[in-house]
Amino acid sequence: LVVLGIETSCDDTAAAVVRSNGEILSQVVSSQADLLVQYGGVAPKMAEEAHSKVIDQVVQEALDKANLSESDLSAVAVTIGPGLSLCLRVGVQKARKLAGTYALPIVGVHHMEAHALVARLVQGELQFPFLVLLISGGHNLLILARDLGNYVQLGTTIDDAIGEAYDKTAKWLGLDLRKSGGPAVEDLAREGDANSIKFKVPMKQHKDCNFSYAGLKTQVRLAVESGSINPEIPVSSASSEDRKERANIAASFQRVAVLHLEEKCERAIEWASKIEPSIKHLVVSGGVASNQYVRARLNQIVEKNCLQLVCPPPKLCTDNGVMVAWTGIEHFRMGRFDPPPPTNEPEDAVLDLRPRWPLGEEYTEGRSEAR
Ligand code: ATP
Ligand code: FE
Repeated sequence: LVVLGIETSCDDTAAAVVRSNGEILSQVVSSQADLLVQYGGVAPKMAEEAHSKVIDQVVQEALDKANLSESDLSAVAVTIGPGLSLCLRVGVQKARKLAGTYALPIVGVHHMEAHALVARLVQGELQFPFLVLLISGGHNLLILARDLGNYVQLGTTIDDAIGEAYDKTAKWLGLDLRKSGGPAVEDLAREGDANSIKFKVPMKQHKDCNFSYAGLKTQVRLAVESGSINPEIPVSSASSEDRKERANIAASFQRVAVLHLEEKCERAIEWASKIEPSIKHLVVSGGVASNQYVRARLNQIVEKNCLQLVCPPPKLCTDNGVMVAWTGIEHFRMGRFDPPPPTNEPEDAVLDLRPRWPLGEEYTEGRSEAR
């Protein structure tokens, strides 16, 4: 099988061609980072326009790099949710047009399932069941993946995701936002003292697997406001004391943000082992999983519990087309796909988009058990 994957759920336009043996034939990402800096966040209309402008080119480049034409494909996979519906629509329309023209089956993909399953492409021998921590800009999920399409949600965020906290911290510290905020905070944190500011670890008293990052965000903002740094001045031109102070905030934030992950992962390992005693792996994926400090700390937790950490390479942790193509392959192999759409589908046809789409059932028994 050879599958084309298309991803437009948020601010990256991505496409990739992947073979069912796990071989990545091509991988193209067009990022809207410049737009984000200009407008200070993802503005749906603006993002939609940016996707529309590059989608044809991104898909064509993915096919060219793979040295394939459309008719060589076995299927087209496309993210149908969760995400911004205006943005999802661009990818889904492109996928359906292509699938219609070349009579290809089409697989609708869950963006967060794709973040998780790409781990099985990276590590071919990774078998269900396994535990997954998904950490990105919009999600903070602990999932027990029991089988393909069978997921139990052990925990989620009650407000913000960790990636959002990284992005705001970067903004408040006056870091260069041309790449995303996370890597900028990670870099600066290396120069700081992680114990210099005692931020409070969120949700200590909650004996569950849920997350909360809104309070930590506020703590960081207050630390910036009450300090002597001037975030109007970019960190690159700040004095050495000013830079040191920013680095201390970055490092202290990162320590506590990740401590929160560690505590909840330990509990999730306990819960998951009760449901599926045979689990051997913790998969960590989503943009924040490309952070080296996050990986190192989670690796300790995992080793302590005699599990193995599976973390895709950074390029496959942030949004990409490979994960969508791969998830398409996994479902296609099980016969889960839609027939080719009609060739003359009208532009305004009602599409199956799922902007809000939970990944699996919420686990409640464990919560009462754990109390
Ligand atoms: P979602 O997957 O929830 O829809 P998204 O698709 O926008 O959100 P991803 O591309 O998966 O998110 O991840 C982007 C997030 O990851 C951003 O918040 C970014 O700051 C964060 N991130 C990327 N690299 C790092 C890093 N090295 N350290 C911390 N955070 C990072
Ligand atoms: Fe994502």
